[in-house]
Amino acid sequence: MKAAHNIFYAHGFGNVAPWFDLANSEEWDGFGKRTDHLNDREWLAAFWKHWKLAPISFDSPSRRRLQDLRELLRRAAQKLAAGHSLGTGEITKLNHALNVPVRQRLVQRQNGWRAELLPIQRDGNWTLAQIAASLAETLAGQNAERVRICANADCRWIFHDPTKAGTKRWCNDRTCGNRARVRRARAAQKRSA
Ligand SMILES: [Zn+2]
Repeated sequence: MKAAHNIFYAHGFGNVAPWFDLANSEEWDGFGKRTDHLNDREWLAAFWKHWKLAPISFDSPSRRRLQDLRELLRRAAQKLAAGHSLGTGEITKLNHALNVPVRQRLVQRQNGWRAELLPIQRDGNWTLAQIAASLAETLAGQNAERVRICANADCRWIFHDPTKAGTKRWCNDRTCGNRARVRRARAAQKRSA
């Protein structure tokens, strides 16, 4: 458990929103090697725990549903990173994931009263809906235009660009950014040789 906890945080998960993490749970290491964290019980345990989500069972149908949502999230990220909005097909699927029965309850928090949505059933559908809702929040907020995909085609990590100018191209300048600079330098050397 401890090791996976470390993998989860060491690989940069748990930063922005649940939907970023699920989308990046199919991870490429920067050299094209793929890891599917949905096959890793311990990664999933860290994911549920970090975002306070009700765990989804580890059977094939449940993981298939997670994979389906993940595909939708990556497609959404690609559209957003390219400066486009989502298509009607994607919005329909997103609304489908969001469509779970809820009730409202008035609760008192430190900063006052607020109405909270609670699920009728705290099950896998609710968990998928919460992940989908985190994308809906990104779309509704100011951060949709800050969604980026690492420019290293062997990485493709989805991230939030925190820079003022909005010009961050790589998930990490020291790894993917540096690799790109080295590649460009080598290509230039070859051309001049
Ligand atoms: Zn990268």
